Amino acid sequence: MVSQKGDETMRRTLVIFKPDAVNRSLIGRILTRFEEKGLKIVGMKMERLNVYKLKQHYEHLTNKPFFEELLDYMSSIPCILAVIEGKDAVAVVRRLAGETCGRDASPGTIRGDFSMSTQTNLIHASENDEVAKYEIDRFFKPEEMFSYDKMNFNWIYCRSEKGMYTEIKDKGKSVEEIEHAKKKMMEMEQKKEQ
Ligand code: UDP
Ligand code: MG
Repeated sequence: MVSQKGDETMRRTLVIFKPDAVNRSLIGRILTRFEEKGLKIVGMKMERLNVYKLKQHYEHLTNKPFFEELLDYMSSIPCILAVIEGKDAVAVVRRLAGETCGRDASPGTIRGDFSMSTQTNLIHASENDEVAKYEIDRFFKPEEMFSYDKMNFNWIYCRSEKGMYTEIKDKGKSVEEIEHAKKKMMEMEQKKEQ
């Protein structure tokens, strides 16, 4: 199997399973949504978020009337924090989460299926790639995240989506030539790892 390590076409996003997800025993069902979609969990832990971190995390909402209530809710019990990886992972996870208010969120989305609230809406998901980077840095140390080969990878993405094959120009090549090129790629990957 080709190594998935160092594939720069993959993106990472931060997901927080909020206190209502923990309290309502929905951690497993929500996690399953990400796993079944084909996303990869590369970091995961439980943490009771302190007000200092939450004030940074929700800085854009400081002046909102619900800010204090939001801080109380988010710090009430521990959350589950996860770093999730995949192609366009930030946008994909936002779509899986659905609209902020659970009542407005489309059926089929996590919030649309399980939430009735504009605050207790089960998960946080980073808004865009730039925000994802600094949110991951805020909550995860580098040693708490992992790069590893996942067995279903080859069935989740087609060859040209996998990054490591993008240099191979398959058009007009025989199966043998393509296989040879793949083998060379794998050897190069292995050398990189050593
Ligand atoms: N929130 C709230 N009242 C509101 C809007 C938002 O309590 O009227 C909470 C809610 O938990 C939401 C979080 O603040 O998820 C962050 O708000 P944002 O607008 O960033 O929404 P999100 O990105 O989570 O969809
Ligand atoms: Mg947001």
